[in-house]
Amino acid sequence: MTEPFEMVVGLEVHAQLKTETKLFCACPNDGFGAPPNSRVCPVCTGQPGALPVLNRKAVELAFKAALALNGKLAHKSIFARKNYFYPDLPKAYQISQYDEPFCLGGEVLLRLKDGKTKTVQLARIHMEEDAGKLLHAVGSQTLNHSLVDFNRGGVPLIEIVSQPEIFSSEEAYAYLTSLKEILQYAQVSSCDMEKGEMRCDANISLRPKGREKFGTRAEIKNLNSFKNVKDALEYEFLRQSDILSSGGKIIQETRLWNGKETVSMRSKEEAHDYRYFPDPDLVPIDLSPEWIKKLKSEIPELPQARRERFVSEYHLSPYEAEVLTASQAVSDYFIQVLKLPGAQNNAGVLAKLIMNIPDFSPIPEKQMASLTHLCAQKTITLNQAKELYPEIRESKKDPKVLVEEKGLAQVLDEKILRDWVKEALAANPQAISDVKGGKKQAAGALVGAVMKLSKGKANPALVNKLIFEGIDKA
Ligand SMILES: [Zn+2]
Repeated sequence: MTEPFEMVVGLEVHAQLKTETKLFCACPNDGFGAPPNSRVCPVCTGQPGALPVLNRKAVELAFKAALALNGKLAHKSIFARKNYFYPDLPKAYQISQYDEPFCLGGEVLLRLKDGKTKTVQLARIHMEEDAGKLLHAVGSQTLNHSLVDFNRGGVPLIEIVSQPEIFSSEEAYAYLTSLKEILQYAQVSSCDMEKGEMRCDANISLRPKGREKFGTRAEIKNLNSFKNVKDALEYEFLRQSDILSSGGKIIQETRLWNGKETVSMRSKEEAHDYRYFPDPDLVPIDLSPEWIKKLKSEIPELPQARRERFVSEYHLSPYEAEVLTASQAVSDYFIQVLKLPGAQNNAGVLAKLIMNIPDFSPIPEKQMASLTHLCAQKTITLNQAKELYPEIRESKKDPKVLVEEKGLAQVLDEKILRDWVKEALAANPQAISDVKGGKKQAAGALVGAVMKLSKGKANPALVNKLIFEGIDKA
């Protein structure tokens, strides 16, 4: 390779809106895993005379996505017909938005390695309906014809189009991670990629490093996991740089990622190929400021704001804040437990508790507050809490009662500890003179002796302190 290239990537993400029903009919929006064609009606199968009725809830969720992503809502937006023929599209057009989408602009904050951040601007967000799905096999049996399942047809989607401001596969991954978090926190989409609720197309071109002008791009279709996006971009970067380095030209085309490589699918259509025109069956969407104000007030705290608050208000480390906010459910739980007596003012301990327990599954908030209190008071250690956790979850007992029943509580009473220390010192004169002679590690035997006397319940840090005090006096 002669010239060092950089990739220039723009991502188009389709997210399925979390509505009860489809975008233009009353069919349930829960077709994943349902029997084929069990979620269909004359509207979403394009029967003659059937007319679409816009789902208000879908519009509200789309607007919330725009607000959460700092996009600019258009005062008026319209639906357009995107015309093309394919067997999964019964009307032979898809209802989408074209030159008057509901949102222009917006931004996504990327969190990169070593605490670095970067903002990627959005070009636009628009609403559209999903198409059906072709089946070429049933179970393990390949068919000599294709079947079509229209359950997905008419499912409400938003398409979020980024500016070509992503310059590496890592940035693409970070972009998708942040975007998914924001859409999930805003309750707009579940973004479950395994159910096809979030899908991504990537436009990628190469240019010599340091040059402004874009190269010719290829579009990679239907990337259904973050890892696929990363792998496909890395593959495509090598493919295009090989062509460019040997003096070849990139063809503008649509390619498909098959898990190993990208393969040419068709030459890329231009927008005018689709003969877009305003859908005469649907009225424009008019915004009222009151409506937007109401929607804005309904958006829960978003992940970035929550991360910052966890650091400034609860004094968690940025790392702890990052881990806890990775899931909205976990961070909500954290906030709820903190309101209870016992956990109040012990945010740091609660954070560590939640993070220390592998495969964390929440226990009732009251139990968690009690467990936090026991750790904060040093009655038990974080490790003991971790070991006790499965039993707390199963027995549903107050952790305090369990700790008492099991006799786990650490002895912190200095009076009791001093007696044990005295006994240990009296039995080990050699260790005392070793420590005095400079062999500090000889104190280990004394700590061990106290732990034995206390049946493991003495607080090791306190014992250590008291032993050195005792030796000084001896
Ligand atoms: Zn329908």
